[in-house]
Amino acid sequence: MTFRELNLKEEILSAIEELGYENPMPVQELSIPFMLEKTADLVALAQTGTGKTAAFGLPVLNLINAQTKQVQALVLSPTRELCIQIANDLKGYSKNIRGLKVVAVYGGEDIRVQLRQLDTAPQIIVATPGRLIDLIERGKVELGAVDFLVLDEADEMLNMGFKEDIETILERTPESRRTMLFSATMPKEIANIAKRYMKNYEEITVGTKNAGSENVEHIYYVSQAKQRYLVLKRIVDLNPDIYGIVFCRTRMETKEVADKLMHDGYNADALHGDLSQAQRDTVMQKFRNRNIQLLVATDVAARGLDVSDLTHVINYNLPDDVEIYTHRSGRTGRANKKGIAVTIIHSKERFKIKDIERMLRKTFTQEQIPNGLEVCKKQLFHLIDRMENVEVSEEQIETYMPQIMTQLEYLSKEELLKRFVSLEFNRFLSYYKNTEDLNLPERSERGERGERGERGERGPKPGGRVRLKMNVGEREGVDAKRLLGIINDVTNDKSINIGAIEVTNKFTFFDVFPDQLDQVMTAFAGQTDVIVSEAKGSKSFDDRKSDYRPRSGGSSDRRSSGGSGGGYRGGDRGDRGASSRPAASGGDKPWRNRELSDRSSRPSGGSDRRSSGGSSSGSGYKKRY
Ligand code: AMP
Repeated sequence: MTFRELNLKEEILSAIEELGYENPMPVQELSIPFMLEKTADLVALAQTGTGKTAAFGLPVLNLINAQTKQVQALVLSPTRELCIQIANDLKGYSKNIRGLKVVAVYGGEDIRVQLRQLDTAPQIIVATPGRLIDLIERGKVELGAVDFLVLDEADEMLNMGFKEDIETILERTPESRRTMLFSATMPKEIANIAKRYMKNYEEITVGTKNAGSENVEHIYYVSQAKQRYLVLKRIVDLNPDIYGIVFCRTRMETKEVADKLMHDGYNADALHGDLSQAQRDTVMQKFRNRNIQLLVATDVAARGLDVSDLTHVINYNLPDDVEIYTHRSGRTGRANKKGIAVTIIHSKERFKIKDIERMLRKTFTQEQIPNGLEVCKKQLFHLIDRMENVEVSEEQIETYMPQIMTQLEYLSKEELLKRFVSLEFNRFLSYYKNTEDLNLPERSERGERGERGERGERGPKPGGRVRLKMNVGEREGVDAKRLLGIINDVTNDKSINIGAIEVTNKFTFFDVFPDQLDQVMTAFAGQTDVIVSEAKGSKSFDDRKSDYRPRSGGSSDRRSSGGSGGGYRGGDRGDRGASSRPAASGGDKPWRNRELSDRSSRPSGGSDRRSSGGSSSGSGYKKRY
């Protein structure tokens, strides 16, 4: 279908053509003919990003009389941001209609500016409810000639406590008006408003009711609650190009998480209610321009923010309300792009995931929290990709090339590459060298004590493994790699299987299999500088680091460092570790702080929000846990 087939005026067709709109989006295909050909009201279940502004804007512009200087259409929207955006869109659609004026009025801006704009006698006002009431009370806005009333993001307006204001405004407009209500969800309160104030309305749904956007993949990670932040970092590190919002429950948590991320060198900032309007505007602008990669926000503060091309939405905590989950996740997967909604939960929250799955009729996938090795590999190849695609400014570099060539002449291509890659990559490796497995052991998820469960465990290991204790630890420079080297050296046998390894400041604990226990104990019995004994009463593993152990040439996708799987075969240990002291720790700051220039030079795709086609959400439910 084309816009021309929808019988829109020439002035409108030419404007949208200039904007590059080729075909109507699904919600427009439904709403435009409805508004132009029928007389009833309309309730549309559609999220932002589905083209709803044009869905109400185009027919309204088509129907009002630009020669009459009265307010004929009123659009109510929850936030100042959205007001500005809708007004700008409407101005774009109507730029070829002579005499047509659109004015936006919203809180948080000097009312005098808006009073002056209202003097231009607009036919369309886009407003937040509170400010509009203020202007009505000042006698500056008269709604007696309103033919079209649009309630945009009606559910958000109710969430923000505008119910009474909306009702006041509705009562100020003529009963003969036509009302269009747009909402991403359909809680009871919205249905009540529709019933009370709208006449024989028809309901249209873009996509499936109750469903989040079709383009959104829902995944979750299960971890201990206190490790949420570490899990968040892993998720972010596994997605070097992430551009997303991290949703927190409270202002306090928002601040904490954002501060930690910034401290750890991530390109993040916070958006919450304690910030002034000016501060919020600055943060939002930076995020929109992609100068900030991760925005940590509360639901309320993020309401005003409309960004279409988020790669991820991260639920640092599950929201209490399924609708909030829908809203959050609907912020990604817009404009026909794929999006990922990630949730970090602890084991007792699985039932909540099940609830949301049922409500949204979507399947959520549990993913394993990536281990250090996986993250390093991902980051490495991201670096390689960047290097492959970097723009080389030949002219600038040319001057220095002869000197560089002479200086590096003696290095082979392989050596050169190794060195360049190491410049950046060493930091990743040293940070992730000693990181623990953050996945909950399966058995402890079921409430039993897992292999490395909440309380750790003592004595013989499940599956018959035996935990041994060595009297040297981090203090003496031992790490997993070095331990394997020591075992190789002392036993003179590279085929010893080693299970979980735990390095504490003073001691190193490791698991061996019963069939090799004697061999190991006998070999160490002859040692005087390291003493190995069976671990009795070893403390909980909970807070300690369990090393990720790289295996040269081995599989890189081993998830659990302490997994109940095969353990580590000594034969794979390429190095004899004893001589290689661990590198200095990366400290709290990993390798981040990647250049902003890199990010800003990415193809933005930014404002080019296109159809997400059948995405929508909405429901008659409102579920609280
Ligand atoms: P909205 O849901 O109104 O926020 O619109 C989402 C994005 O899609 C906006 O950037 C619009 O400019 C864009 N858009 C709306 N209608 C169309 C269309 N028919 N074709 C292409 N882009 C559109």
